[in-house]
Amino acid sequence: MSDHSGSRMLNSILGLFYREKLFDNLELEKRQKLIKEVLQIACWRHDCNSGEILDGYTDYFEICYSCLSSTPDLQEGLCQKCRGEGSSE
Ligand SMILES: [Zn+2]
Repeated sequence: MSDHSGSRMLNSILGLFYREKLFDNLELEKRQKLIKEVLQIACWRHDCNSGEILDGYTDYFEICYSCLSSTPDLQEGLCQKCRGEGSSE
């Protein structure tokens, strides 16, 4: 069972950092690396939910909340693969 309260807490903290533009000084690549490291700690070690943590911020980080791949092609936080749309074929 996921730690929902932990996930919401991280989402709120992310909101504060976002509001204060702490991420804006980082290039997109570094921003993505940082958030992935946060997600790895939260989701692998503490059983948090990446969808809840990234709620509202997937477009900003350009990260799929499901597979954590970096892509600007997101719909409601999911990349093409996770939306089940397959490749261009
Ligand atoms: Zn994905």
